Amino acid sequence: MALQSEKMKTSHLLLAIAGVAALLLFPIGIDNPYYIHLLETIMIYAIVLFGLDIVVGYTGQVSLGHAGLFGLGAYAAGVLVFKLAAPFWITVPVAILFTAGFGALLALPALRVSGPYLAMVTLAFGTIIQILINEMSFLTEGPMGIKLDKPSLLGHKLDEREFYWVVVVLMVLALVVVHRILRSHLGRAFEALRGSPVASDCMGVSVYRYKVYAFVISAGFAGLAGCLYAYSEQYISPNSYNFELTVLFLLAVIMGGRKSRIGSLLGAAIIVLLPKLLDDVVLFRYVSVVLAVLVLVTAAVAIRRERATPAQMAIPVVGSIALAALAFWLDTMTDWRLSIFGVIMLFVVYYLQDGIVGFVRKAFNMRRPVVQLPPTVEGVAPTDAVATAAHAGGSAEVLQASGVLMQFGGLKALNNVDLSIRRGTIHGLIGPNGSGKSTMMNVLTGIYVPTAGAISFAGRSLVGRTSSDIALSGIARTFQNVQLFGEMTALQNVQVGLHHTFASNLFDVAVHTPRYRRESDAAVSRALGLLNFVGLGEFVAEEARNLPYGKQRLLEIARALALDPQLLLLDEPAAGLTAPDIKELIAIIRKIRDHGITVILIEHHMDVVMSMCDTVSVLDFGQKIAEGEPAKVQADEKVIEAYLGGSTAT
Ligand code: ADP
Ligand code: MG
Repeated sequence: MALQSEKMKTSHLLLAIAGVAALLLFPIGIDNPYYIHLLETIMIYAIVLFGLDIVVGYTGQVSLGHAGLFGLGAYAAGVLVFKLAAPFWITVPVAILFTAGFGALLALPALRVSGPYLAMVTLAFGTIIQILINEMSFLTEGPMGIKLDKPSLLGHKLDEREFYWVVVVLMVLALVVVHRILRSHLGRAFEALRGSPVASDCMGVSVYRYKVYAFVISAGFAGLAGCLYAYSEQYISPNSYNFELTVLFLLAVIMGGRKSRIGSLLGAAIIVLLPKLLDDVVLFRYVSVVLAVLVLVTAAVAIRRERATPAQMAIPVVGSIALAALAFWLDTMTDWRLSIFGVIMLFVVYYLQDGIVGFVRKAFNMRRPVVQLPPTVEGVAPTDAVATAAHAGGSAEVLQASGVLMQFGGLKALNNVDLSIRRGTIHGLIGPNGSGKSTMMNVLTGIYVPTAGAISFAGRSLVGRTSSDIALSGIARTFQNVQLFGEMTALQNVQVGLHHTFASNLFDVAVHTPRYRRESDAAVSRALGLLNFVGLGEFVAEEARNLPYGKQRLLEIARALALDPQLLLLDEPAAGLTAPDIKELIAIIRKIRDHGITVILIEHHMDVVMSMCDTVSVLDFGQKIAEGEPAKVQADEKVIEAYLGGSTAT
């Protein structure tokens, strides 16, 4: 596997070098200002899309404010040049920082909401920016717009071609930086919060904070692009940064393919070239025929390799052939431009939800190269991968809850529950369905704030603290209904749990400082060790959603252990497992306890509970009805009565 990925890396590198060389040589080969400018615009849009993809593709949020942010970048540069004759090396960083600041301004309040509300808020934000630019004529010259020249570098005024080269360099730089961010712990945090927000928070990755980060970074790229756009067009006016552009950006990310830099480049090329293409019927005929042939070949390959059925491929094939036929049937495009544009958009959004890159990947069975093990990395030995819980002095009790009340409307899911967990033990929490066991875990991990009661963990109160804060203080958990980051590999899932081991900031990530390399390599080794610890060594590169159910539960445990917890909460870890799997699970839980980690175990399988637990607490209708050694509890009359109600306990 390692060898293959090395080979792939080299071929990717060669392709990338060839691509950059082609971009750099383009204006020498084709000395036509029109085409140079076209390509320049594509690259500038691509920079916006790299950033937008972080928000849309990775965190799964919607932004309709990116045209506004792009406009802010353009105006930051325009006003600086117009009012202060600022040089290029000033306008670029200022535009980036200024726009990133506005990104934070947008994100802080907006990200409290999500879905359609977030779309509305970002849309309003974009509109307000456009209106402000229009109204603040003392600064922006209002609707008149601002004219500016190409910038100078080192005292030399750049001509069209030279500025094009500057754009190439900055685009490649942006691409590398975005790529590095997304491959780092930051990118994993972004992806995780899309996969499962609740699990992210419980792994110490604050969903809210990383959503804001994503917006700020994304805005920074929009700012850079806006700044370059101002110089490229040499004229900016408020109308350029309208609603249409924002929708176009969004479509470009989706069409090109989310979570892909090539997708962003493709998307940018499409939104720049498609309108031009629809102006010229002869060119449109050529391109539609080429497109039809390409789709046909891709579909044929996909069907032969049994990656898709003929029925699935019928509509793309028929659609692209119909488009080509239409092109020959029409004499002029003028009347049809918008309709064709609309139909193509609809078709893509409806049919290519993973974008063009996703479609091609699926057809050719290419997997995302997600696992790149650094050649120097060796896995930490499984048992060393689990950190021994720190016994920082303190009392014999690691967790103490008293009088916990959790009320949902009229229902008391937890009613005056006391719980005292001794350090280093396995504490069972049992009770019939709906008795409040999971609610207790949610209260302990900050997902619910108890209506009343006190909880202290390692000497500090937990009540009112955020889930991520509680997680970082040493409580890890798994979920009754598995909460993995489905699109991420097993390795990446565990790496999210190791997020707390990174001190690297954006700069470290962007330039790959020694600190980042060290932390990153260490995290890979630890993650491999943890996967081996739960016996998932062979599934390292498998996407979590493709794992068998039992393995998914084990992966959750490995991820939770990555947090280096003092207390581990397991919510029905054996549910849905086969008998041999359960045996394996019991062995793993014992090993975890041997590392000094305290375990609270919710379980329906009585044999598991009885064989492992040091103490058992029994809940019924939200109240604790019994507590003590397993054998004693099992014989308790109240407990037997509670269970006769028809639970699956055996
Ligand atoms: P279990 O012991 O099976 O894990 P739970 O803790 O999941 O039980 O649920 C206890 C009770 O609290 C159930 O009646 C459940 O319907 C209710 N409950 C749990 N979460 C909520 C919620 N968010 N809103 C309303 N009721 C809830
Ligand atoms: Mg439950």
